[in-house]
Amino acid sequence: MPPPAAPLPVAVIGGGLTGLTAAWNLRRSGVPVVVFESAPAPGGVIASTRDGDWLWETGPNTLLEGSADITAFVDAIGLGGRRQYAADAAKNRYVVRDGRLVAMPTSPMGFVTTPLFSIWAKLGLIGEVWRPKSPADAEESVADFVERRLGREFLDYAINPFVGGVYAGDPRRLSVRHGFPKLHALEQEHGSLLRGALKRRNTSGGPKGRIFSFPEGLAELPRGLAASVGDAVRYSTRVQTVRRTEGHWEILSASGGATRSESFSSVLCALPADAVASLQFEGVNGASRLAELREIEQPPVVSIFTGYRREDVAHALDGFGLLMPEVEKRRILGCLFSSTLFPGRAPAGHVALTTFVGGVRAPELTQRDDAGLQQLVREELGDLLGVRGEPVYCHIQRWAHAIPQYTLGYARFKAIFTDVEAAAPGLHFGGNARDGISLANCIASGQRLARTVTPATAS
Ligand SMILES: Cc1cc2nc3c(=O)[nH]c(=O)nc-3n(C[C@H](O)[C@H](O)[C@H](O)COP(=O)(O)OP(=O)(O)OC[C@H]3O[C@@H](n4cnc5c(N)ncnc54)[C@H](O)[C@@H]3O)c2cc1C
Repeated sequence: MPPPAAPLPVAVIGGGLTGLTAAWNLRRSGVPVVVFESAPAPGGVIASTRDGDWLWETGPNTLLEGSADITAFVDAIGLGGRRQYAADAAKNRYVVRDGRLVAMPTSPMGFVTTPLFSIWAKLGLIGEVWRPKSPADAEESVADFVERRLGREFLDYAINPFVGGVYAGDPRRLSVRHGFPKLHALEQEHGSLLRGALKRRNTSGGPKGRIFSFPEGLAELPRGLAASVGDAVRYSTRVQTVRRTEGHWEILSASGGATRSESFSSVLCALPADAVASLQFEGVNGASRLAELREIEQPPVVSIFTGYRREDVAHALDGFGLLMPEVEKRRILGCLFSSTLFPGRAPAGHVALTTFVGGVRAPELTQRDDAGLQQLVREELGDLLGVRGEPVYCHIQRWAHAIPQYTLGYARFKAIFTDVEAAAPGLHFGGNARDGISLANCIASGQRLARTVTPATAS
């Protein structure tokens, strides 16, 4: 009798954090897997570069340890000992008001005394607990939601800069339900954001939302995952076609001029929206609708890493960084104090800053050439932080399509994923256009994808 045929592997398309998390979980459960990654290295938009004593991130800079799941995941990969929490010196979060940096209050007394909000805005907040909640199924913008509950000043000087920093987005266009589901749930469950936040603070266990990275940057995470998954990750290999056949799936991929067709038991798609829209699907009912995912807005962002001699920066840089409210009418979205946040980012006697430009607010600025961007950064950081002269180190990273915007009506895009999956058992979609944009969301997305194959085992 011939030996039983080996089970077909699972295909994971995309070797960013979502895909690698899915693959790592499957490998751990003994499920054979192949990861297709079009780039020559793992991590997708996560990439950290070490150049002597400088260390810079091209994409994300920090991961939020918002739940015990994230802690457990990093420990399970074997990176627990390398986790590097944000330094105590980075505890101030500055917001610019009237051209000056003002630290966000972190205590009730700090809130009472902060010049960030007027006395009227502070008094107006008291009424928040009595304001009615919106109907559960209402689709409301982040701006309308915040103005209704907290008032205009909190929109302008807290939420607007925050949305600029997280999404490079515009709160008038983002849906609170889809873009900030926890905020939406807070109102729905507790009738008030303040009441809900207090209740959660008193009852929630687990880590208190600390931010971390690793000594060699965030790329340690995908590198660690990819090393565990081993030669099952195929780099520089682009998937072109996903075909549903009798009882299994076929994937046509291209690498170095050669194409290859292979069979799989199921397909986990961990790609950004525009990449999903570019894939060819055959034998999948309704797959033509995936082309509509191109309509998801993903504005351009430029991340500019600059290094200076310490004496050339007047500000103490005693914080996480600064965020820029749109009403301030300046040209940057924000700036991270990278060498304050984590040690080992700049040589002794130097500091490193990471400035973000563009987003929904000012996409045209990303069209500037390198010299134009350097000049913009010099002028903005000169005014805001007292930076003098030229940087001694500079790297500019351009993202043509940075972060998907969960705009009003985003349910339409989520329904496309759900409907296509329903018509094609064994095909599943995850990633930041479906499950949320943060790295923590992407880890959860990869775990969810793995559970579609091995329901009980993903962690
Ligand atoms: C500038 C910037 C700053 C950010 N900052 C933060 C931050 O500080 N904290 C935070 O939590 N989040 C941040 N984010 C968001 C977060 O980094 C992303 O949402 C997340 O990394 C997306 O991971 P992913 O695996 O879903 O997708 P990706 O990282 O986009 O990975 C998808 C992979 O698929 C590959 N691919 C594409 N097409 C194909 C194909 N046809 N075949 C095979 N492979 C293919 C790509 O090469 C890529 O490697 C930031 C994002 C950007 C752009």
